[in-house]
Amino acid sequence: MDKIEHIGIAVKNLKDSNALFTKLMGVEPYKMEEVASEGVRTSFFKSGPNKVELLEATTTESPIAKFLEKKGEGIHHIAFAVEDIKKEMARLQEEGFVLLNEKPKKGADNKWVAFLHPKGTNGVLVELCQEIKEE
Ligand code: ZN
Repeated sequence: MDKIEHIGIAVKNLKDSNALFTKLMGVEPYKMEEVASEGVRTSFFKSGPNKVELLEATTTESPIAKFLEKKGEGIHHIAFAVEDIKKEMARLQEEGFVLLNEKPKKGADNKWVAFLHPKGTNGVLVELCQEIKEE
């Protein structure tokens, strides 16, 4: 695995949290994107090498809606950048980690993503992400 690509934070209201994180990080979000398949609306902030993703639920079935219900707002996942997501998924599976998706899927911010079940990672939802390169 490479560096931490971003930290994902579950929020109740993206508009309010965008204003809050703009104040906190001193920059506006550089991207806002809805991932309909995941039932989330996201925004991304970048300050120096650090990236933060805010996630708001768009449906009651959204994993974010369920997370908010159970735990409230807060850190939702840590994303690691990887060079070759399929290879890394195979390696982690071999190590006994439980993957939440069998194949990489298209996530926000132009990335292939895969998640590890938090029950195998001390309660932390881990995201792997690989930049989607133009062919
Ligand atoms: Zn993420």
